[in-house]
Amino acid sequence: MSDFLLPTYNRQPVRFVRGEGPYLWDEAGVQYLDAVSGIAVTGLGHAHPDIAEAHCDQAKTLIHTSNLYGIPWQERLGERLAALSGMEKVFFGNSGSEANEAAIKLARLHGRRREIDSPKIVVMEHSFHGRTMAALAATGNAAIQKGFEPLLDGFVRVPYGDIAALEQVANDSQIVAVLLEPVQGEGGVRPAPTGYLAAVRALCDQQDWLMMVDEVQTGVARTGRWFGFQHEAEVLPDVMSLAKGLGNGVPIGACLTAGRATDLFGPGSHGSTFGGNPLVCRAAATVLEVIERDGLVMRAEKLGQSIADRIRDGLAGLDGFREVRGRGLMIGIELDRPAGELVGRALEQGLLINVTAGSVVRLLPPLILSESQADLIADRVIGVIRDWYAAN
Ligand code: PLP
Repeated sequence: MSDFLLPTYNRQPVRFVRGEGPYLWDEAGVQYLDAVSGIAVTGLGHAHPDIAEAHCDQAKTLIHTSNLYGIPWQERLGERLAALSGMEKVFFGNSGSEANEAAIKLARLHGRRREIDSPKIVVMEHSFHGRTMAALAATGNAAIQKGFEPLLDGFVRVPYGDIAALEQVANDSQIVAVLLEPVQGEGGVRPAPTGYLAAVRALCDQQDWLMMVDEVQTGVARTGRWFGFQHEAEVLPDVMSLAKGLGNGVPIGACLTAGRATDLFGPGSHGSTFGGNPLVCRAAATVLEVIERDGLVMRAEKLGQSIADRIRDGLAGLDGFREVRGRGLMIGIELDRPAGELVGRALEQGLLINVTAGSVVRLLPPLILSESQADLIADRVIGVIRDWYAAN
């Protein structure tokens, strides 16, 4: 590939130049079916006409003014996100990592308000929160932290989904918050066990901790709910991070607050030059509108179920197939061995998939798939996995 790019990625040998719906085309005109959506970003598919129209119109009207002035599209998007989530206020940045940086800062301010000297945040094993320094320290993956020590202090790590482990650390008086993903994405597509989020909520209330959910991957309809925490009734977090699917490809991150997390920031306490500019906020507001208009939240749940069931049936009896799990269109297929090779094999078959946590094939297809495209993804995945096992 290019001599001019720092080699931070292991890239596949393909360069895409065009997209439409769930399809991409490379430079030679070869078509691919996209079951990754730019890592859970392009939920409405590529070149969605309503989103493209919003981009063009806003680019011709106003792209950027900075947060030194009021931004009507930002206010409109904030109001819409609040209505959909039950959260109250929002800070806009440009990525998931930045949304989490804001969340971590809020937790520290909550600690200061409680007169705690060295505030600590409980984080999960196998979590992923981003690559900026605080988000990296919160992340539960030693391999990607290696070399960047000393990491930011103030994190206590517990096993994901284990409420007893969380209760055990509750005697640490310096703890101010818990940060968790409703479904761990990079960590292997692991949904929280039923009742876990409600139990975390109850413990946070009891201990005066902020409950902070990282919905960067799970948010904005991906899991068959507007937000992943909504899989459990009566749970409302204090802080929620969003990014990825919110912009359908434009860089936007959002840190939302409710209740006691809402009055922690004041003028001058946090900021971003680009965050929430008119272009990205109009794009994101249009994304929400299209999801609602086209019933894509329920569609994600239904399509996710049908893809997962079809793959489960198609791989049944294959030695080495462990399980299919996930929520909505966030689907993981656990195999018995490192499966990175499958990405290249699928690419050769005109299918984009991802492999995470070593042995988990991850599918994050767009929410706008037709039933037959969903079946096609499932069938190609089954074929690629079966062929690979047959050849090994
Ligand atoms: N949080 C979660 C749960 C993620 O999955 C990711 C990215 O994969 C991030 C945070 C980081 O987001 P970004 O790459 O936009 O900084």
